[in-house]
Amino acid sequence: MSQFIPYGRQDISQEDIQAVIEVLRSDWITSGPAIAQFEKAVADYCGANYAVAVSSATAALHIACLALSLEKGDSLWTSPNTFVASGNCGLYCGATVDFVDINPQTYNLSVEELERKLVSAKKEGCLPKVVIPVHFSGQSCEMEQIYQLSHQYGFKIIEDASHAIGGKYQGQPIGSCQFSEMAVFSFHPVKIVTTGEGGMIVTNREDLYEKLIRLRSHGITRNPQLMKGESDGPWYYQQLELGFNYRITDIQSALGISQMQRLEEFVLRRSQLAKRYQELLQGFPLTLPWQHPDTNSSWHLFVIRLKLEQISKTHRQVFEALRQGQIGVNLHYIPVYRQPYYQRFHYQWKDFPHTEQYYQEAISLPLYYGLTEIQQDRIIVDLTDILKH
Ligand SMILES: *Cc1c(COP(=O)(O)O)cnc(C)c1O
Repeated sequence: MSQFIPYGRQDISQEDIQAVIEVLRSDWITSGPAIAQFEKAVADYCGANYAVAVSSATAALHIACLALSLEKGDSLWTSPNTFVASGNCGLYCGATVDFVDINPQTYNLSVEELERKLVSAKKEGCLPKVVIPVHFSGQSCEMEQIYQLSHQYGFKIIEDASHAIGGKYQGQPIGSCQFSEMAVFSFHPVKIVTTGEGGMIVTNREDLYEKLIRLRSHGITRNPQLMKGESDGPWYYQQLELGFNYRITDIQSALGISQMQRLEEFVLRRSQLAKRYQELLQGFPLTLPWQHPDTNSSWHLFVIRLKLEQISKTHRQVFEALRQGQIGVNLHYIPVYRQPYYQRFHYQWKDFPHTEQYYQEAISLPLYYGLTEIQQDRIIVDLTDILKH
């Protein structure tokens, strides 16, 4: 029986382990100095002014929406080709959530479709307050165009960059927030760098930063300058709004700092493996990932689309045959509007033809730092066999 190859996995080095051990032996294992160091490492890497580390990207998306005062009566738009968390953050705030169909080449939210939808929402007086472009598979959305639309139609942008730390847009690191209010990263083990669970928000706006810091920890401040009235004494703190415990730990942050030092190496290896897939899968009845010239992907995912009219098997049969061969393929993503929970909002599937077609054809092949060329060859041999017979 051949060994199971997952679609993604973390890579933990001896240095990573050592960094965590040092924190475990130190005075602080929760909110100590490692958190601020981790935040600085990510902010510096991205060229953003501020970073706030939290317990997950889901938590990050939630408080990013709250920092923009998203609430009941407001509307949030995102891509349907994403993890449910990109939409759920709007629902947490009591807002309504709607989706913008994808671009059939990049699988990111389509700028043309966004504009079309904005024109009609303006007529009906239901423009979104927040739009969340998701940098699918690590490839940036067309941020400059989305940013222009945000000025024209008055919405704010939160980038869901969960896949995309280490990627670039127009030569700038994703997370520079040149074309957004905030960007969010995930440090789940399948993503580019990991802290176990963990997330981060980057921003250039000081007001948002202050708010995010409070929302991460119960809405509490210990800064006398931010308090209402006088401080009662050195023990004093005030809760100014309803926040959460979304804090990350020093243990996780130590791992994050160590992993950030390996980010370039991670992305380089992923892009080499992606290039090798591109070369070795030429001539197959497949659509391979297309890259917009303004982008450098971090290559979180390598998605192939089956040209079903040239294959005698169904999408499901190909998927099952790969899993049978111990290849941990996956499907990113089930369109969020298809989820049972989302059916109460009555989305019309036919409004998202490109997302629907994508969902009938897409398969994510294994791609991660530690994937060997021998494993990659096995995947390609299996795929060749399955597509031929
Ligand atoms: C992984 C992921 C999230 C959620 O990240 P967590 O850190 O697991 O909360 C959100 N959005 C996208 C696009 C993701 O891939």
